[in-house]
Amino acid sequence: MTTEPKQSTITIWGGEERHLLDGATQVPVVHSVSFGYPDLDSWLDVALGKTDGHIYGRNTNPTVEVFEEKVRLLEGGEAATSASTGMAIISNALHSIVSPGQRIVSVKDTYGGTSQLFTNHLPRMGYECVLVDTNQTEAIEAAIADGCDLLYLETPTNPTLKVLDLARLTAAGHAVGATVMVDNTFATPINQLPLAYGADLVVHSATKFLGGHADALGGVAVGSKELIKTIYGYREINGATLHPEAAYLLLRGMKTLSLRIERQNANALAVAEYLANHPKVTAVNYPGLASHPSHSVAAKQMSGFGGMLSFSLGNDLNSVRGFLPRLRFAHRAANLGAVETIVGPPATTSHVECTAAEREALGIPEGLIRYSAGIEDIDDLLADLDQALESI
Ligand SMILES: *Cc1c(COP(=O)(O)O)cnc(C)c1O
Repeated sequence: MTTEPKQSTITIWGGEERHLLDGATQVPVVHSVSFGYPDLDSWLDVALGKTDGHIYGRNTNPTVEVFEEKVRLLEGGEAATSASTGMAIISNALHSIVSPGQRIVSVKDTYGGTSQLFTNHLPRMGYECVLVDTNQTEAIEAAIADGCDLLYLETPTNPTLKVLDLARLTAAGHAVGATVMVDNTFATPINQLPLAYGADLVVHSATKFLGGHADALGGVAVGSKELIKTIYGYREINGATLHPEAAYLLLRGMKTLSLRIERQNANALAVAEYLANHPKVTAVNYPGLASHPSHSVAAKQMSGFGGMLSFSLGNDLNSVRGFLPRLRFAHRAANLGAVETIVGPPATTSHVECTAAEREALGIPEGLIRYSAGIEDIDDLLADLDQALESI
């Protein structure tokens, strides 16, 4: 009897078999820009989509296809497509699913780049974008009920780790005929499966947890065949193609995805609990803490609470200035989801695209520190935080 493979098995084997070459046990990096055919009829069959194959590297590529297939299997969707970065897949998806004049409803706490699309670029192009306070579920539902072509959700949010109720909001979106799109970058398919809660489309910055090694940029979307075909059709022309070399690095990183996420879930929870009990720490945001305002929603829809948290040392940027350089086992950098622990304030990380006034309007405190737990030994991470906090 064969059973459906579990997530950790998919991270290793998913999507690979068909593409292994001459007995190779690893997927090849195919650099070829174009793909040749011996005769016009077989070439036409591929061009018209009657048989599988590749024509030109801006459209599809065998290495990139394995990456898409692995993420598709992990998210449990019908089809997947990719782009050069997370922002590329998000903007390509938005531009191909909705049109100027249509209405997008989202929340104030989306990733900084996404938020810039909603507050600046899309309105300039004639899209109506309504951003609601992330904690006000009823207000989000009311904005949806007033008309919504696309509902854009992100949970947990960056950098304050607010949690949106996927089942409830997806139902509200579908009640008015909206397409529901979810950025699942923070949770990863190991911790949360938005399609299982009714979402139509899941997007990722694969640059973060999926790749996990901070050495390749990429974006990916998973959803119905029809939606993915629409997004692919635009991305192929738009030209923001994922490079096969990056696809390979992301694929290699994904082999350890479930091991990494297990450790990052555990490390982030231990760090959050430690910080919550420290007198110099004034606030800790982590959905795994029982004190988190949406802990019960998170517990319902997530199988692990993720590797991301944020905390405040009062509202004082000077404490942050003193604290950050003292950490020994943390990169001070604008990234997250890597095997190394990474720290930084929103002004230089998630919301670097925003002005101080815009961050304030989004409710993001300047003194906040975002913490992406790596896979180091937890005793070393806690001791490191301890000595750094002692010195301020
Ligand atoms: C980083 C990030 C993005 C953008 O991804 P890039 O690969 O940097 O373009 C989008 N959403 C979230 C939640 C992110 O953390």
